[in-house]
This record gives sequence, structure tokens and C-alpha cells, in this order.
Amino acid sequence: MLRIPYGRQSINEADIEAVVEVLRSDWLTQGPAIERFEQAVADYCGAKYAVAVNSATSALHLAALAAGLETDNLLWTSPNTFVASANCGIYCGANVDFVDIDPRTYNLSLEKLAEKLHNGKIYNQLPQVIIPVHFAGQPVPMRDLYELVKDYEITIIEDAAHAIGGSYLAQKIGSCQYSEMTVFSFHPVKIITSGEGGIITTNREDLYEKLIRLRSHGITRKQELMTEPAHGPWYYQQIELGFNYRMTDIQAALGYSQLQRIDQFVARRRELAERYNRLLAGLPLILPWQHPDSLSAYHLYVIRLQTAVLRKSHRQVFEELRQLGIGVNLHYIPVHLQPYYRRLGFREGDFPEAERYYQEAISLPIYYELTDAQQDQVIAALNQVIA
Ligand SMILES: *Cc1c(COP(=O)(O)O)cnc(C)c1O
Repeated sequence: MLRIPYGRQSINEADIEAVVEVLRSDWLTQGPAIERFEQAVADYCGAKYAVAVNSATSALHLAALAAGLETDNLLWTSPNTFVASANCGIYCGANVDFVDIDPRTYNLSLEKLAEKLHNGKIYNQLPQVIIPVHFAGQPVPMRDLYELVKDYEITIIEDAAHAIGGSYLAQKIGSCQYSEMTVFSFHPVKIITSGEGGIITTNREDLYEKLIRLRSHGITRKQELMTEPAHGPWYYQQIELGFNYRMTDIQAALGYSQLQRIDQFVARRRELAERYNRLLAGLPLILPWQHPDSLSAYHLYVIRLQTAVLRKSHRQVFEELRQLGIGVNLHYIPVHLQPYYRRLGFREGDFPEAERYYQEAISLPIYYELTDAQQDQVIAALNQVIA
């Protein structure tokens, strides 16, 4: 039986045509497709600037550097995320810590954050950067988070790898109304894809200029930033240490073409989520609760098993669904329990809500091209397994 995956991209003829067009053009990288894509994402999100890079992991790294994160600083994020949200702090030489999750949204808990900030102030352990992750596509209540953080010198970077197309208080995620920068991923399982790719949106010109420079080796051609007059028209200077994190025009053209269908993609995901909500309502499951201020992009649809009333273990249910051809997945193994982070001193029990969630969560298939009939197959399998 062909397995129904938990997520997959949707590529149409217009996407293919857009990529072929770049291949026939003069620019495969650092050409006009990049700026066009950046402008389109900035406009879509309602931000002033966007900087395209080769992955969201690179985007998080650059955003943390642009925020000034450095050796022995501190970064806080959610334990219920992909490892990249935390690793970006380590890349900068900073220490990483986590804020346990809200048991309803599975996002970083604002109550826990308030508590941790209070203690951090007493013990002089405050972070320079906080990275809220809009888990499954559901935005963290950013205005409330901003209110908690605004009296400290903390830079907020939104990890919105799941959330392009989502909105909060009627504003698109990526508008950076309550943050300095927002990061999106264009990996094929995410809402729109460029193959690999990521982008950072911001409203601050200084951050924009810094991100552009760090993306390409720390090199500038701006006279006002140079230490001496240009030697000639060929001249450039490397004024800081940057990387090659550039996106290609091939990727940007695909991303731009995909962006034309983003609202369609998100609308279908919402429809599928509502259908799951309706058709799974009678089962011993916890369905994804939605914060009234947030409109999810539904990158993921996560159910939690009420293991106390089931005769099967979480693992058994997961394996039996896989055997029935349902490509279920689990997002996420708590980051602090990864061997790398355990070696840094984290232990089981450090973030109990995230750990409890991990014992019960299963991601069901959700993506634009999933048909009602395929979704019915998922629901039937689930009924069969947990009946
Ligand atoms: C996918 C993902 C990333 C990393 O994205 P890449 O583009 O694959 O580097 C970061 N954070 C979260 C929450 C993600 O889901």
C-alpha cells in the first residue's frame, strides 16, 4: 500500500516553468529573482525588508548574530521545536535554555516565561535573545510576549518556520509588529517551498543591512562603511566575518511562484484541520486547541492520545498507523533531551509539559494535495487502531 505522508509539497506547471525560465537566463544566483522574491514576501507579510538565504537554519543563525548574540550570552526558546531553533544560539557561542510549553497550544508558555524572567532578574541570568516558535503554524500571542519582555534588553526573533500564511490579531505572521525579526523555512514539507531555503523579515534598516552583509562573507561595496577610499570599481571590503548563506535564483523563482498560491495552500490546510476536528471529535484524543487571537497556517495537525483510557501504548498506536500506510510523525522530541543537549547538562524532568506532550503526540497527514478520500483513510485507520 502506498503510504500517505504527513506532509508534502505541491508543484504545478507554473512552478516548473518559473524554474526553467531562470535556467535559461543569465543569472543562476545573485540575480533579479532574489530581490523579486524578497520584495514579494515582505509585501505579503507587511514587513519593510526581507533577506533570502539558503535555509531557515542559516536564517536563524544570521538573525541571532544580527541581534548581537555572542559568546557567553543566553538564548531562550521552546523545547518543543526542531533543533535548529536552539542550535543557532550555540553557533554564536551563547548558552541555550528553554521555557516549558503551554499544555493547550504546545507553544512556549507565557506564564512560564514570566516566571523565568522574574527569576532571571534575581539571579542575573537574563537572555539577550528569545525565540518563540509558532508551533504547528499557530502563532504565539506576540503582543503578550512583547509586553513581558519589553522592559528588558531582549531581542525577539520569531521562528515562523511553520507559520507563513498564519496571522495574529489580523496581521500576517512576519509583519514583525512585536518582534525584531521573523524567520521562515521553505523546506518542501513547509507551507511553501523553494527546495531548500529560508528568509528573514524585519522592519529595521540596520538589521537588514547587517543580514545582507552576513549572508555573503561580511563583504560590503558601500563606501561609507569602508576604512579607506575604493581602489577602483572592482573594490570591496570584508568588514566582518560572514558566510555564504545565499539563496540561488533557481530557488527564489520557485519560492516566488509558490507564493502566488499561498492563500490557497493555507485555506485547504484549514479546511482539512476543521474536517479532522469534526470527524475525530468522538475519539479519546485531545484535538489541537486554537488561541482566539491566532489563525494557524496548520503546518501540522497534532493529536494527543488520552493514554489513560486507551488499551494501547502511544508507540503501539503510532506503529500500527504506520503499518496501515499512514505516514504519521512525531513533532517534537524535546530538544533538551537530545544527547547533545544532555551533555550540556539538561535532564529528564527539566521541562515536564514538553516531556508529557512527547509521550502522547502524533502528527497526522496534512498538506495541500491531501484529498478528502485520503483523509477519510487516515480517520478510518485511527478508528481501527484505537477502537
Ligand atoms: C524546519 C524548521 C527549521 C529549519 O528549517 P530549514 O529550512 O530546514 O533549515 C527551523 N525551525 C523549525 C521550527 C522548523 O520546523
